[in-house]
Amino acid sequence: MKLCTGETLARKIKKGKCIVFRCTNTPRKQRRVCCSCMKKEWRRKNPKMDSFAHIKFHAKERGIIFTLTFEEFVKLTEECDFGKRRLFHVDRIDAIRGYETGNVQILTVSENVAKGNRERMCPRYQAALKKRFEKEEADFVKEWY
Ligand SMILES: [Zn+2]
Repeated sequence: MKLCTGETLARKIKKGKCIVFRCTNTPRKQRRVCCSCMKKEWRRKNPKMDSFAHIKFHAKERGIIFTLTFEEFVKLTEECDFGKRRLFHVDRIDAIRGYETGNVQILTVSENVAKGNRERMCPRYQAALKKRFEKEEADFVKEWY
């Protein structure tokens, strides 16, 4: 986090503005740094927790099962400098299953894209996916009709 210095700092404090360089937001009462800048700083300090929350949120959005714990995620990401640069993806080995223990691996972005393309072209994968949707539909019908 780059803070303002000298005259700019004094002016921003007087106006009650966030003292982070180039930020024009107004922080909450009794604070000198705004929420967005605090969030950014937290993300920079906790890249793994940030990635974990991000993946979990989007898994829920996409209706994918997520049972991985944060400890397991940290263990998984220990070998690479995951999070420092966004070069890595958390991949589900079997895309039909969710983010579960034993079904996740760390891939580089290019590896993961290649894998995705391969799976989309593979008839066996397509068939399995179709089966899953049929099963889900059956469960839905059982529950509601
Ligand atoms: Zn700010």
